[in-house]
Amino acid sequence: MTNDCIFCRIAAGEIPATIVAENDQAIAFRDLHPQAPVHVLVIPRRHVRSLDAADDVGELGAVMQLAAAVARQEGIADTGYRVVGNTGDDGGQTVHHLHMHVLGGRAMSWPPG
Ligand code: 5GP
Ligand code: ZN
Repeated sequence: MTNDCIFCRIAAGEIPATIVAENDQAIAFRDLHPQAPVHVLVIPRRHVRSLDAADDVGELGAVMQLAAAVARQEGIADTGYRVVGNTGDDGGQTVHHLHMHVLGGRAMSWPPG
């Protein structure tokens, strides 16, 4: 738990969020500024700065497994969806606690901006 980290505070229940799913090591909640009809963030409970700092394959597996479970639960698994992990400045990461965006409910374009 890092006190100045907004996602740590959400995981600790100190800041409200709409939690949609969780498992032992990860938690999923709706993005405050959704970019698609379904936009859920999946984070490890533990503070991990970014994918670059990830050091526990079990924890990463728990995050990805929860992302897939959320997509299924939100009804976008059959139509398709995108899982995005913005990493570092060029990746567009603004919150420095590892998170995967689960986006769906509309067709996505490629390449990303
Ligand atoms: P990034 O830009 O780091 O990949 O994604 C951070 C995401 O966190 C953004 O999509 C932003 O809308 C979301 N976000 C930032 N602050 C909060 C918050 O307090 N609550 C929730 N639910 N989402 C947040
Ligand atoms: Zn954190």
